[in-house]
Amino acid sequence: MRSFKWESESDNMPIAERNIKCKNCLSTRFKLKAKGLCSRCYSLTRKFKIVEQWNLENIETLKYYPKDMIFHNQRDFNKIKNGFIRQLEDRLSYLQSNEEMLGGAVNGVDIVPRFQKVSELAGSRNKDFLWHEEDLFDQNFTSKQKKILFSILNQIIESIPWRGIDWNKIFR
Ligand SMILES: [Zn+2]
Repeated sequence: MRSFKWESESDNMPIAERNIKCKNCLSTRFKLKAKGLCSRCYSLTRKFKIVEQWNLENIETLKYYPKDMIFHNQRDFNKIKNGFIRQLEDRLSYLQSNEEMLGGAVNGVDIVPRFQKVSELAGSRNKDFLWHEEDLFDQNFTSKQKKILFSILNQIIESIPWRGIDWNKIFR
């Protein structure tokens, strides 16, 4: 029988790099990039700080902001800045809660959204996929099996780069 390797990924890391937790996501799975953050959290945090400093009066501050002057008005500015901030915050807290789930017990309620995410990433248009099917996992899988399932789904999701800011969400 294959061993449950997802529980002990850090065993393969050099001792010096073990257990150095990222200050945001608290993961030990990634090398720290700078300021005590892993590369994922570092680039998000950096972007977040730049967006926080956005000032419509000072074009120099508007890194990542649309160049098209049609968006250079107060109404769109507020929408875009708030949207960026919310999505970056959501992403940072997702990385943190995901890491917590990887390290602890998971249930159907944690597994269903991951299956839905994989389904969405695969291009499925079925928005109701596994809707209210949490019990399917809780009644048919042991705790260990649920953890393995969650880890496999997480590996798929992590192997696909984050799509970045969703402009549809900003203007919805
Ligand atoms: Zn991190």
